[in-house]
Amino acid sequence: MDALAANLAAVRERIAAAATAAGRAPDAVTLIAVTKYARDEWVRGLLDLGVRDLGENRPQQLTERAETFTAQPPVRWHQIGQLQRNKVQKLLPAAFLTHSVDSETLLARIERVAAEEGLVPAVLLQANVSGEDSKSGFTPDALRALWDAGLDRFPHVRVRGLMTMAPAAAPDAVEAVARPVFAGLRTLRDELGGAEALPMLSMGMSGDFEPAIAEGATHVRLGSVLYAGLAEG
Ligand SMILES: *Cc1c(COP(=O)(O)O)cnc(C)c1O
Repeated sequence: MDALAANLAAVRERIAAAATAAGRAPDAVTLIAVTKYARDEWVRGLLDLGVRDLGENRPQQLTERAETFTAQPPVRWHQIGQLQRNKVQKLLPAAFLTHSVDSETLLARIERVAAEEGLVPAVLLQANVSGEDSKSGFTPDALRALWDAGLDRFPHVRVRGLMTMAPAAAPDAVEAVARPVFAGLRTLRDELGGAEALPMLSMGMSGDFEPAIAEGATHVRLGSVLYAGLAEG
Protein backbone atom coordinates (compact mmCIF):
# COMPACT_ATOMS: atom_id res chain seq x y z
CA MET A 1 0.00 0.00 0.00
CA ASP A 2 3.02 2.28 -0.21
CA ALA A 3 1.92 3.41 -3.66
CA LEU A 4 -1.53 4.27 -2.32
CA ALA A 5 -0.02 6.30 0.52
CA ALA A 6 2.27 8.11 -1.92
CA ASN A 7 -0.59 8.84 -4.34
CA LEU A 8 -2.75 10.14 -1.52
CA ALA A 9 0.01 12.37 -0.17
CA ALA A 10 0.69 13.79 -3.64
CA VAL A 11 -3.00 14.47 -4.23
CA ARG A 12 -3.37 16.18 -0.87
CA GLU A 13 -0.41 18.40 -1.74
CA ARG A 14 -1.94 19.30 -5.09
CA ILE A 15 -5.27 20.12 -3.40
CA ALA A 16 -3.53 22.31 -0.83
CA ALA A 17 -1.48 24.08 -3.50
CA ALA A 18 -4.54 24.76 -5.65
CA ALA A 19 -6.48 26.07 -2.65
CA THR A 20 -3.63 28.30 -1.53
CA ALA A 21 -3.16 29.67 -5.03
CA ALA A 22 -6.85 30.62 -5.03
CA GLY A 23 -6.55 32.31 -1.65
CA ARG A 24 -8.56 29.55 0.02
CA ALA A 25 -7.76 27.42 3.06
CA PRO A 26 -6.65 23.89 2.14
CA ASP A 27 -9.14 22.42 4.58
CA ALA A 28 -11.98 24.19 2.76
CA VAL A 29 -11.73 21.37 0.20
CA THR A 30 -12.86 17.85 1.10
CA LEU A 31 -11.23 14.99 -0.77
CA ILE A 32 -13.73 12.27 -1.54
CA ALA A 33 -11.97 9.06 -2.50
CA VAL A 34 -14.12 7.48 -5.19
CA THR A 35 -13.97 3.72 -4.69
CA LYS A 36 -16.23 2.51 -7.50
CA TYR A 37 -13.35 0.72 -9.25
CA ALA A 38 -11.23 0.14 -6.14
CA ARG A 39 -10.43 -3.34 -4.91
CA ASP A 40 -11.48 -4.11 -1.35
CA GLU A 41 -7.87 -4.00 -0.19
CA TRP A 42 -7.49 -0.46 -1.55
CA VAL A 43 -10.61 0.63 0.31
CA ARG A 44 -9.17 -0.83 3.49
CA GLY A 45 -5.87 0.88 2.70
CA LEU A 46 -7.58 4.26 2.36
CA LEU A 47 -9.29 3.80 5.72
CA ASP A 48 -5.97 2.81 7.30
CA LEU A 49 -4.51 6.04 5.89
CA GLY A 50 -7.22 8.03 7.64
CA VAL A 51 -9.51 8.77 4.69
CA ARG A 52 -13.14 8.90 5.84
CA ASP A 53 -14.97 10.35 2.84
CA LEU A 54 -15.61 7.63 0.29
CA GLY A 55 -17.71 7.89 -2.87
CA GLU A 56 -19.57 5.22 -4.82
CA ASN A 57 -21.60 5.66 -7.94
CA ARG A 58 -23.84 2.62 -7.57
CA PRO A 59 -26.21 2.69 -4.58
CA GLN A 60 -26.08 -1.09 -4.27
CA GLN A 61 -22.31 -1.12 -3.91
CA LEU A 62 -22.46 1.81 -1.50
CA THR A 63 -24.86 0.07 0.87
CA GLU A 64 -22.92 -3.20 0.67
CA ARG A 65 -19.60 -1.54 1.35
CA ALA A 66 -21.08 0.60 4.12
CA GLU A 67 -21.78 -2.67 5.93
CA THR A 68 -18.40 -4.21 5.14
CA PHE A 69 -16.07 -1.27 5.74
CA THR A 70 -16.60 0.22 9.12
CA ALA A 71 -14.10 2.46 10.89
CA GLN A 72 -13.69 4.89 13.74
CA PRO A 73 -14.42 7.71 13.27
CA PRO A 74 -17.18 6.44 10.96
CA VAL A 75 -16.95 6.51 7.17
CA ARG A 76 -18.97 9.20 5.39
CA TRP A 77 -20.38 7.54 2.27
CA HIS A 78 -21.11 9.78 -0.70
CA GLN A 79 -23.53 8.71 -3.43
CA ILE A 80 -22.09 10.36 -6.55
CA GLY A 81 -23.70 8.44 -9.43
CA GLN A 82 -27.15 8.31 -10.90
CA LEU A 83 -29.82 7.25 -8.44
CA GLN A 84 -32.94 5.44 -9.53
CA ARG A 85 -36.10 6.12 -7.60
CA ASN A 86 -36.49 2.52 -6.50
CA LYS A 87 -33.05 2.61 -4.83
CA VAL A 88 -33.77 5.62 -2.62
CA GLN A 89 -35.18 3.77 0.37
CA LYS A 90 -32.16 1.50 0.74
CA LEU A 91 -29.65 4.21 0.08
CA LEU A 92 -30.80 6.98 2.40
CA PRO A 93 -29.86 5.42 5.75
CA ALA A 94 -26.36 4.60 4.48
CA ALA A 95 -25.48 7.78 2.61
CA PHE A 96 -23.91 10.77 4.33
CA LEU A 97 -24.45 12.99 1.28
CA THR A 98 -26.14 12.30 -2.05
CA HIS A 99 -24.51 14.42 -4.76
CA SER A 100 -26.57 13.31 -7.72
CA VAL A 101 -30.15 14.50 -7.31
CA ASP A 102 -30.78 15.21 -10.95
CA SER A 103 -34.53 15.83 -11.25
CA GLU A 104 -37.49 17.15 -9.34
CA THR A 105 -39.07 13.69 -9.51
CA LEU A 106 -36.11 12.23 -7.66
CA LEU A 107 -36.14 15.06 -5.13
CA ALA A 108 -39.84 14.43 -4.49
CA ARG A 109 -39.18 10.73 -4.05
CA ILE A 110 -36.42 11.44 -1.52
CA GLU A 111 -38.77 13.78 0.34
CA ARG A 112 -41.44 11.11 0.58
CA VAL A 113 -39.12 8.33 1.71
CA ALA A 114 -37.36 10.61 4.19
CA ALA A 115 -40.68 11.68 5.72
CA GLU A 116 -41.76 8.05 6.05
CA GLU A 117 -38.46 6.94 7.56
CA GLY A 118 -38.00 9.93 9.86
CA LEU A 119 -34.81 11.04 8.08
CA VAL A 120 -33.58 14.42 6.89
CA PRO A 121 -30.94 13.51 4.31
CA ALA A 122 -28.42 16.02 2.96
CA VAL A 123 -28.28 16.28 -0.81
CA LEU A 124 -26.73 18.23 -3.63
CA LEU A 125 -28.57 19.06 -6.83
CA GLN A 126 -26.72 17.97 -9.94
CA ALA A 127 -26.63 20.64 -12.62
CA ASN A 128 -25.90 20.07 -16.28
CA VAL A 129 -23.93 23.24 -16.83
CA SER A 130 -22.10 22.09 -19.94
CA GLY A 131 -25.33 21.34 -21.80
CA GLU A 132 -24.05 17.99 -23.07
CA ASP A 133 -26.84 15.54 -23.89
CA SER A 134 -24.89 12.75 -22.22
CA LYS A 135 -24.86 14.48 -18.84
CA SER A 136 -27.75 14.18 -16.46
CA GLY A 137 -28.85 16.91 -14.12
CA PHE A 138 -31.05 19.97 -13.93
CA THR A 139 -30.53 22.53 -16.64
CA PRO A 140 -29.76 25.94 -15.16
CA ASP A 141 -33.27 27.04 -16.14
CA ALA A 142 -34.83 24.03 -14.44
CA LEU A 143 -32.94 24.88 -11.26
CA ARG A 144 -34.13 28.48 -11.40
CA ALA A 145 -37.70 27.22 -11.80
CA LEU A 146 -37.26 24.87 -8.84
CA TRP A 147 -36.05 27.80 -6.75
CA ASP A 148 -38.91 30.02 -7.83
CA ALA A 149 -41.39 27.32 -6.88
CA GLY A 150 -39.69 27.03 -3.50
CA LEU A 151 -37.71 24.31 -1.74
CA ASP A 152 -40.05 24.42 1.26
CA ARG A 153 -42.08 21.76 -0.52
CA PHE A 154 -39.29 19.36 0.50
CA PRO A 155 -39.05 19.87 4.28
CA HIS A 156 -37.35 16.52 4.90
CA VAL A 157 -34.48 17.18 2.50
CA ARG A 158 -31.57 19.46 3.26
CA VAL A 159 -30.29 20.86 -0.03
CA ARG A 160 -26.70 21.79 0.77
CA GLY A 161 -25.32 22.77 -2.60
CA LEU A 162 -24.73 21.88 -6.22
CA MET A 163 -22.75 19.27 -8.12
CA THR A 164 -21.59 19.11 -11.71
CA MET A 165 -19.36 17.19 -14.08
CA ALA A 166 -17.26 18.87 -16.73
CA PRO A 167 -16.88 17.41 -20.22
CA ALA A 168 -13.93 15.07 -20.61
CA ALA A 169 -10.96 16.98 -21.99
CA ALA A 170 -7.37 16.29 -22.94
CA PRO A 171 -4.95 17.57 -20.27
CA ASP A 172 -3.99 20.63 -22.30
CA ALA A 173 -7.65 21.54 -22.87
CA VAL A 174 -8.88 21.28 -19.26
CA GLU A 175 -8.38 24.96 -18.52
CA ALA A 176 -10.37 25.94 -21.61
CA VAL A 177 -13.07 23.25 -21.45
CA ALA A 178 -13.66 22.38 -17.79
CA ARG A 179 -12.96 25.61 -15.99
CA PRO A 180 -15.82 27.59 -17.55
CA VAL A 181 -18.21 24.81 -16.48
CA PHE A 182 -16.99 25.05 -12.88
CA ALA A 183 -17.25 28.84 -12.99
CA GLY A 184 -20.77 28.40 -14.35
CA LEU A 185 -21.78 26.23 -11.39
CA ARG A 186 -20.45 28.77 -8.93
CA THR A 187 -22.25 31.61 -10.69
CA LEU A 188 -25.46 29.61 -10.66
CA ARG A 189 -25.04 28.95 -6.94
CA ASP A 190 -24.48 32.66 -6.29
CA GLU A 191 -27.58 33.48 -8.29
CA LEU A 192 -29.78 30.94 -6.48
CA GLY A 193 -28.92 31.49 -2.87
CA GLY A 194 -25.26 32.21 -2.40
CA ALA A 195 -22.74 30.37 -0.27
CA GLU A 196 -24.80 30.79 2.87
CA ALA A 197 -27.78 28.84 1.54
CA LEU A 198 -25.74 26.50 -0.66
CA PRO A 199 -22.30 26.10 0.92
CA MET A 200 -21.23 22.98 -0.98
CA LEU A 201 -19.92 22.80 -4.54
CA SER A 202 -19.04 19.26 -5.59
CA MET A 203 -16.93 19.56 -8.73
CA GLY A 204 -13.61 18.26 -9.96
CA MET A 205 -12.38 14.74 -10.78
CA SER A 206 -8.91 13.29 -11.32
CA GLY A 207 -8.32 15.17 -14.56
CA ASP A 208 -9.72 18.55 -13.59
CA PHE A 209 -9.77 19.06 -9.83
CA GLU A 210 -7.29 21.94 -9.75
CA PRO A 211 -9.37 24.32 -11.90
CA ALA A 212 -12.43 23.20 -9.91
CA ILE A 213 -10.72 24.28 -6.68
CA ALA A 214 -9.75 27.56 -8.31
CA GLU A 215 -13.47 28.13 -9.00
CA GLY A 216 -14.59 27.29 -5.47
CA ALA A 217 -15.04 23.51 -5.22
CA THR A 218 -15.64 22.38 -1.63
CA HIS A 219 -15.72 18.68 -2.55
CA VAL A 220 -13.54 17.01 -5.17
CA ARG A 221 -14.36 13.45 -6.24
CA LEU A 222 -11.17 11.59 -7.05
CA GLY A 223 -10.76 8.03 -8.24
CA SER A 224 -8.11 7.09 -10.77
CA VAL A 225 -5.44 9.52 -9.56
CA LEU A 226 -5.39 7.67 -6.23
CA TYR A 227 -4.92 4.22 -7.72
CA ALA A 228 -2.27 4.94 -10.37
CA GLY A 229 0.27 2.15 -10.44
CA LEU A 230 -1.60 -0.06 -7.95
CA ALA A 231 -3.16 -2.64 -10.26
CA GLU A 232 0.20 -4.02 -11.37
CA GLY A 233 1.38 -4.57 -7.81
C1 LIG B 1 -16.00 7.94 -11.32
C2 LIG B 1 -16.46 9.27 -10.90
C3 LIG B 1 -15.56 10.19 -10.37
C4 LIG B 1 -14.07 9.93 -10.25
O1 LIG B 1 -13.49 9.87 -11.52
P1 LIG B 1 -11.88 9.84 -11.72
O2 LIG B 1 -11.70 10.47 -13.05
O3 LIG B 1 -11.50 8.41 -11.65
O4 LIG B 1 -11.30 10.65 -10.62
C5 LIG B 1 -16.05 11.43 -9.95
N1 LIG B 1 -17.37 11.72 -10.05
C6 LIG B 1 -18.27 10.86 -10.55
C7 LIG B 1 -19.70 11.25 -10.63
C8 LIG B 1 -17.84 9.60 -11.00
O5 LIG B 1 -18.75 8.74 -11.50
